[in-house]
Amino acid sequence: MVRIVLVQGDITAEAADAIVNAANSSLLGGGGVDGAIHRKGGPEILAACQQLRRSHYGKGLAAGQAVATTAGRLAARHVIHTVGPVWSREEDRSETLASCYRASLRVADELGDRTVAFPAISTGIYGWPMEDGARIAVRTVRSTRTEVEEVRFVLFDERARAAFEAAVSELGHPWERDHP
Ligand code: ADP
Repeated sequence: MVRIVLVQGDITAEAADAIVNAANSSLLGGGGVDGAIHRKGGPEILAACQQLRRSHYGKGLAAGQAVATTAGRLAARHVIHTVGPVWSREEDRSETLASCYRASLRVADELGDRTVAFPAISTGIYGWPMEDGARIAVRTVRSTRTEVEEVRFVLFDERARAAFEAAVSELGHPWERDHP
């Protein structure tokens, strides 16, 4: 059973085998987590993303998919870029959001990464309601078969941390809190 650790803080300060980026389809950077990862990780990550655009991902990365690059100067072996769905009132895109977590864990498995740090995908610029985003994140991680031993959800603020604490408690999954 995967160990779930909740951390409040900046994901670019985490040490993990893989750090997950809430990227956009262009893979060429953006705001939020994406901007922070490129700023702190340095130009090597963007260069790797540009290379992906020139090769397998000419049209970019579709929502729900994941792909890895170097982590540059971050304290990680890889950055796993995944594109969350934009929240919609008209359409239920929960399955696409769940797919981000699943696909990222699959990429981590392929690379042999055992500790993975996730942000709360889609809950920033993409507008997903935090409580629901937290529930989908936790439910998906605990129901995915993976060799990953530890998932660290790195939550930017108190509200996000509380939402994830409620989600893990509700599902009865054992979890720990990490004090940075
Ligand atoms: P998305 O476009 O998928 O919504 P964002 O990066 O805008 O992605 O936001 C995803 C979540 O990450 C939001 O809850 C946001 O508050 C949070 N966030 C933003 N910057 C950071 C950071 N440096 N570390 C951890 N979480 C962050």
